[in-house]
Amino acid sequence: MRLLDFQSTRLCGVLIRGEFLSQIALNQNASLPSQRFTLSHELSHYLLHQNHTQFLCDGCERSPLEWQANEAAAELLLPYRIFLPILSNIRSNSNRLSGLLELAQRFGVSTQMVRNRVESLSYELWQYNRGVPVDKLKLISRSRQTRLGLPRGPGPDYYFSRPSITVWDDGV
Ligand SMILES: [Zn+2]
Repeated sequence: MRLLDFQSTRLCGVLIRGEFLSQIALNQNASLPSQRFTLSHELSHYLLHQNHTQFLCDGCERSPLEWQANEAAAELLLPYRIFLPILSNIRSNSNRLSGLLELAQRFGVSTQMVRNRVESLSYELWQYNRGVPVDKLKLISRSRQTRLGLPRGPGPDYYFSRPSITVWDDGV
């Protein structure tokens, strides 16, 4: 893994798979939480998409492969089995802004990523808030949840207020 001064500000990470050596390069100008997310994203490509030799990633979800790598990276950095109980605990014990910052710092991610994770775990949150143990949750992709019309848990605005200043946020 290398940090490089990418000429493009949009390019987050690159994975090049070789026969004997594979490399991941990250944009050294990105924040540490963003680099952590991108490293997890590229590792997810490496593990999940073994028929592809190269990825140039700019953080968009244009293809199913990019979406899949983003979901895997989110689970790697914010595993739902750990994240959901802590989220519920934070909701009852903290004020709405400090809870968001505490979660972001605890997991080493941006506040936007915490919000995105709450959004993407909506159905799981709905189950968890109704007493389903975390190891018994039914995991269903967001698109399938929408297709099936499944109920949704509270969104990130229920748990957090938006920070008036940007802390560890760079769009991830
Ligand atoms: Zn990618």
